[in-house]
Amino acid sequence: LYPSVGLSSTATSFATTHEKIQDVQDTQYFINNKFLTSEATQFIDLHDPATNNLVTRVPENTDAELKAAVAAAEKAFPAWRATSVFHRQQIMFKFVALIRENWDRLAASITLEQGKTFPDAKGDVLRGLQVAEAACAAPELLKGEVLEVAKDMETRTYREPLGVVAAICPFNFPAMIPLWCIPIATVTGNTLILKPSERDPGAAMILAELCQKAGFPEGVVNVVHGAHRAVNFILDEPAIKAISFVGGNKAGEYIFTRGSANGKRVQANLGAKNHAAVLPDCNKNQFLNAVVGAAFGAAGQRCMALSTVVLVGETKNWLPELAERAKALQVNAGFEAGADLGPVISPHSKARIESLIASAEEEGATILLDGRGFKPAKYPDGNWIAPTIITDVTPQMKCYTEEIFGPVLVCLNVDTLDEAIDLINANEYGNGVAIFTRSGPTAETFRRRIEAGQVGINVPIPVPLPMFSFTGNKKSVAGGGASTFYGRPGVNFYTQQKTVTALWSSADAISKKADVAMPTHN
Ligand code: NAD
Repeated sequence: LYPSVGLSSTATSFATTHEKIQDVQDTQYFINNKFLTSEATQFIDLHDPATNNLVTRVPENTDAELKAAVAAAEKAFPAWRATSVFHRQQIMFKFVALIRENWDRLAASITLEQGKTFPDAKGDVLRGLQVAEAACAAPELLKGEVLEVAKDMETRTYREPLGVVAAICPFNFPAMIPLWCIPIATVTGNTLILKPSERDPGAAMILAELCQKAGFPEGVVNVVHGAHRAVNFILDEPAIKAISFVGGNKAGEYIFTRGSANGKRVQANLGAKNHAAVLPDCNKNQFLNAVVGAAFGAAGQRCMALSTVVLVGETKNWLPELAERAKALQVNAGFEAGADLGPVISPHSKARIESLIASAEEEGATILLDGRGFKPAKYPDGNWIAPTIITDVTPQMKCYTEEIFGPVLVCLNVDTLDEAIDLINANEYGNGVAIFTRSGPTAETFRRRIEAGQVGINVPIPVPLPMFSFTGNKKSVAGGGASTFYGRPGVNFYTQQKTVTALWSSADAISKKADVAMPTHN
């Protein structure tokens, strides 16, 4: 049984196996709280990355279907924005409870379609769930400001929804990224069109079902499918006021430019090359475990994967131990007990990663640990790459300049902290960075001088929890990162301010002569 593609709102069983699906069903789309079968003529085949067996076919929704989603969201907006924030908060409480109840089912869909291990998929759901939990604080988050600006005069602010908004999601966090968007967009009074990644929309379809069960009115949350054409539709549709995008630089820069040119708000989180600077005074054991986990977990397919290590001074001598721990990781299909990392998303992705490893060899780097050619006996047809460590890397090499997005750790050597900081700052990306040291002053110097938006001090993947915001910078965001995801900035992105100035003077306090100068508010 494979119920995670939005077959019906009553589906409760789910598969936790990589066995071939006999009765492959097409993924449905979701408008007005209904699961619908697309009239599409074009479909994108979705394969289990561990076996390359067909799991489902994802439709490229037709123009008429995309327009119907917009019409539903537009129709739902006036009544939804008129609901009280407490009403929306109650729905969010229910949504949170339903995500908890369906946690394993969501995770199973992720493991099957995306490939990450089941425990890691549960973490994917958790990080999204936490955003939904934080969105329950909407009454606090939406409070405006008020000031008595002059005698009998006050100015106050309101945060109002934008209208119909859209989210375009990547493949690597099939639950978390939709959940960066659904809770905050809707609790602030907007209606939403979500386009999950065409490579793994199953979790988003389960979330759609949970939205329906939580009591979201028809048309508030809609899910459509497709790739470039659906994205272009979203970019050009005048009714859509804002776009949230998470994904790679090529798509993101295009989406930011075209969406902004069409007058929309766009928030766009892009690619990364996250470095760890390792100082000789750090806790070596902690560092080794942290880097191995953060470089190879999720097969390196996290935007905050720690893909680059800058070894300061004698820490380069720790490489053999690093390789030993990486080699000990179990590469296996995500439902297999004990698997530490699963396959990469597609054969194409595997080939791209392998060609980057080959380019490093050609450019003179050393492949200290080579994960190419690995296959678990039971799953010979998956997109496997075992942990790979490339050493003696220099900043000009392709394996350093490009985001690899696979289980590959790239290592560079420097002599001092200053050199490490200069090297990291010279990199175009600025998503996350980490330093491993026991010295407070060293960590503080690094924190002050480093040009990356999310800094971990002895923390390998410093993704901020949802009461903060996701604050990448440089090339890891479009538009200078003016609009960040979740937290208060996330609420600000999905709302526009209205500022009201009111005067309540008694009649006899008003002069008989009009004042034509700019008011001075004395
Ligand atoms: P992607 O850019 O290929 O796809 C993301 C979305 O954009 C998908 O919905 C896809 O349909 C659409 N898309 C892709 N190419 C397009 C094009 N040319 N025109 C229009 N739409 C297009 O990204 P991905 O491979 O799914 O995800 C991996 C990337 O996402 C990595 O670069 C990773 O670093 C990044 N990412 C960043 C963050 C962050 O917060 N910074 C989080 C997760 C992932």
